Amino acid sequence: MTDSFDRQIDYVRIGVTDRCNLRCFYCMPAEGIVYEPKKDLLSYEEITRLLWVLGDLGFKKVRFTGGEPFLRKDFIRLLEHTAEIDAYESIHITSNGTLLQKHIQKLKELGITKINLSIDSLDAERFHKITRRDDFEKVMQTFHMLVDTGFKIKLNAVIMKGINTQDIIPLAELAKDYPVDVRFIEEMPFNGGYKENVEMYSAKDIYADLKAHYSDMEKLPGKHGDTASLLSVPGYKGKIGVIAAFSRTFCNTCNRLRISAKGEIKSCLYDDGVFNIRDYMRSGVSDGELASKFKEIIRLKPKDGFEAEKLRKVPEAAMQSMSSIGG
Ligand code: SAM
Ligand code: SF4
Repeated sequence: MTDSFDRQIDYVRIGVTDRCNLRCFYCMPAEGIVYEPKKDLLSYEEITRLLWVLGDLGFKKVRFTGGEPFLRKDFIRLLEHTAEIDAYESIHITSNGTLLQKHIQKLKELGITKINLSIDSLDAERFHKITRRDDFEKVMQTFHMLVDTGFKIKLNAVIMKGINTQDIIPLAELAKDYPVDVRFIEEMPFNGGYKENVEMYSAKDIYADLKAHYSDMEKLPGKHGDTASLLSVPGYKGKIGVIAAFSRTFCNTCNRLRISAKGEIKSCLYDDGVFNIRDYMRSGVSDGELASKFKEIIRLKPKDGFEAEKLRKVPEAAMQSMSSIGG
């Protein structure tokens, strides 16, 4: 499927729940967000149906995210059903790493070995300050268990001015000892609306910090759909990435579509939902009608995140939490 800017759209990100057991302050307020009633979330059967339809349209990659996907009771069942769909070359998960240890063996059996773990600091106190929970040891243990078991891990860290810029180099150093890609992400204003002014530490700032430390690092050529600008340091086992999530410098190669836990489709992270596929599906439409609707939505995908933002029905200040968007 190509959109009107000739971008091949073949990657779907699905928020399987809006619930989370952490309270990362860039994602939601301390008291959390108002969760959708469970009946309003897509069931695992509905998600599986959408994945079959998208698979037939040429989608090749799926990522399950949230909220925290492992909070959802039937998540493993969803993974089992997804693994049966041949169209997907790879199944990915983004997780905070607090609840997945007991599922490692099952994930391996299902061939799901690509996991993005979110770790914003290697300092337990700072980790607590950012996530407002005490799970640092557990998350690091998960990281080591996954690496030791041969999972392909990408570590995501949101970098915030005055909070964790001192973690950039220690986190990057993980790529020296382990075959993991460490990616630094610009903060975006999707925090449940409680924090209006995000004082951004930009991708350029992050890059400058890295360059000051690693004078011999090299930029690597980008691949289809990459959001991270990738860097390599000679002798390091993993790569280092910088994701300009707020500066939006990668939109011209965007290959993705998002579906939130309640079935809201976002053709761009910066739009505020272009269609509710749950309601459409529950109205009794056929797979062919679902496919036509996806084609129409993909055709109308905006040029970039700035364009999408202009088209929002709700203004910026009321921006949602990444937990309900499906980050
Ligand atoms: N709970 C899982 C986790 O934290 O990995 C998956 C959902 S979380 C919303 C997905 C990713 O979005 C995480 O890497 C998180 O750091 C990132 N994220 C959340 N809020 C963000 C924000 N305001 N700006 C940039 N990234 C954000
Ligand atoms: Fe939860 Fe992930 Fe949001 Fe943190 S970033 S509060 S772990 S959904």
